[in-house]
Amino acid sequence: MMVQFDVKRVQKGTESFMVSFDFTKTPVTQIADYIIISASKHKSSDIHFDPREDGMMVRFRIDGDLQDYTFVPKAYEKNLTTRLKLLANMNITESRLPQDGAIKGMYGDKFLDMRVSSLPLNEGEKIVIRILDYTMSLEGVDNLGFHPKNLEKVKRMMNIPNGIILTTGATGTGKSTTTYSILQGLNKPETNIITVEDPIEMNIEGINQVQVNSEIGMTFATALRSILRQDPNIILIGEIRDSETAQIAVRASITGHLVLSTIHTNNALATVERLLDMDVERYLLSTALTGIISQRLAKMICPDCRYQRETTKYEKKVFKKYMNMDVNQIWDANPKGCDHCRNGYHGRIAFHEVLELDDNIRNALNNEKLEKKELAKMVYSGSTITMLQDALIKCLEGKTSFEEVYRNIEIENEDDDNYENEMATEIKSSVPKEEYVPESNDLLDTPQNKNTTNDVSSVITPPAFTAADFVDNNPQPVANTIQALPTTPVVAQPQTTQVQPQQVMANAQYAQPVQQIVTPPTVVQQQVTTPQTTTVNVGQISKVN
Ligand SMILES: [Zn+2]
Repeated sequence: MMVQFDVKRVQKGTESFMVSFDFTKTPVTQIADYIIISASKHKSSDIHFDPREDGMMVRFRIDGDLQDYTFVPKAYEKNLTTRLKLLANMNITESRLPQDGAIKGMYGDKFLDMRVSSLPLNEGEKIVIRILDYTMSLEGVDNLGFHPKNLEKVKRMMNIPNGIILTTGATGTGKSTTTYSILQGLNKPETNIITVEDPIEMNIEGINQVQVNSEIGMTFATALRSILRQDPNIILIGEIRDSETAQIAVRASITGHLVLSTIHTNNALATVERLLDMDVERYLLSTALTGIISQRLAKMICPDCRYQRETTKYEKKVFKKYMNMDVNQIWDANPKGCDHCRNGYHGRIAFHEVLELDDNIRNALNNEKLEKKELAKMVYSGSTITMLQDALIKCLEGKTSFEEVYRNIEIENEDDDNYENEMATEIKSSVPKEEYVPESNDLLDTPQNKNTTNDVSSVITPPAFTAADFVDNNPQPVANTIQALPTTPVVAQPQTTQVQPQQVMANAQYAQPVQQIVTPPTVVQQQVTTPQTTTVNVGQISKVN
C-alpha cells in the first residue's frame, strides 16, 4: 500500500513539512501510524489534532513551536479520531467528555511511550498526544547542559540523604527531565524509592510509582501519608500544588527522607516565597530545603550554520551590566538555516539557576521580619549564577542566540524599548548574504579592564563574581579564561544511545508487542522543489496491551 504525499519546501532552512495523504486509498490505521512515527522522527514533543470547520489540522510541536503537518478532510476526521482513541485504550463511544489514555508501542526497535488526551470542542474532538522522550533522563544530570559550577552544586545536593530538592519552571521547561535525571542518579539497589505522580511520566525499573487518582480520593496528600509507612529513602512528589502536600513534603524531609519535587515558579526566590505562602512553617522550611533548581528552555543555535556578528549597543550594555564583560562579537542563528536545522535553530538548551541553601539563607528564611529585598540579595550574592547570567554564558559559548536570551528572560534595562528596533536594523544588516562565516576562536574581545566597577545599585547586580569564576580551577586572567570557553556547542549531538524498553519500564509485559495491528506501509516522499523521490519505509506501530 502506497501513501502518496508531498513535501513542500518553502525555502531552504525554513522547511515546512506539510504533507497530504490520499485518504481514498490508504487505511486510516496506516495514516495514524505514519503521523505518529513522523512526529517521533521530527523529535516532536506533542502532536495536536485540531478539529476545524472543514476538517482537522494536525500539528507537531518541535523545539517549543507548533508546526502544521497535515490536513485531514472532515469526512475522515472521525475515523482518525476513533483510531487514535482505540490505540490509547479510550472509550470510543464517549465523545462528549474529556478522556485520558496512553499508547505504548514499538516502532522498529524504538520504544514509543505516549500520553493521549481528548477534549470535546464545538467543532469536534481535539486530541493531543504527548510523546515522552526518556533519552535525556536516562543520560543523567551530566548531560542536561548544566554549567560546571551548577552541576557541582546539583551533585552535592543529591548526596545529602535528607532534605528537599525542588525543580521549578513553567510547563514545558524540562522540569520532569531534570527531576527524573536526578532520580536515575539516585536509583541504587540499596535504596527504596517511591514516587507519587499525576501522571506517571516515565516508567523506571527499580522504582515504586504511585498514580494519583483524585476521583477516588487518592490525592498527593493521601498517597504521601501511606508512602511514609512504606520505609522509603527517597520520595518523588510529581508536583507540589497545595499547602497540604507542601507540608507533608517538608515533614517527610526532616524525618530523614530525600524528597524531590517540582513547583510552578520562575526562579529560586519566587519558589521560597511561594512555599511560605503555602503555610509551610519558616523554621521547618529553612531546615528542610536543600536546594532549588530553576530552569527555562531556549532554542539552540544550529552549529552548522551559525555565524558571528558584532554586538549591538544594547547587547554590549547587557553583557557589561550582568557579566561585567566587554563583548564585541557573539554567535547568532542564521535565519536562512541549513539542511540540519530550521531557521538556524536545532534542539533546545536549558538555562539554569541553582540555589544551594547555606546557613545565611537558612537563617534569613527563619527570620519573619526579613524583607524580600534582603532575601533576594542573599540568594543572588555569593556563588549563585543567575538564570540571566547562565543564559548569557550560553550565548557567549555559541549555544544560543541573544534573541533567545531576550525572549526567555526578563532583562531589567533602561533601554529595553529600543532593543527590538536595534535588532531589526543592526542584526538583519549583518546576516551573511551568501556564505556562512567560518568558525573561529576569536569569539570574544579582551575585556578592556577586568576590574571595571559596576555602579548599578540593583540587588541582583553587579555580579559578586568575575568572569573567571565561570571556569573551574583556572588561574588565568579573565581574558584567557573566557577565550578558553568552548566555541563549539557541545549539545545537539544525535542520539546515539538507544533506549531499551526494559531499561525504563517497570513492567516487562510492555517490552514486547503483543498484538500487531497494522502492516508497515511504504511511503513515497515527493519533494516539490526537486524531481527526486525517496522511498521511506515507515515501519509500524504495534499496539501493546
Ligand atoms: Zn543550520
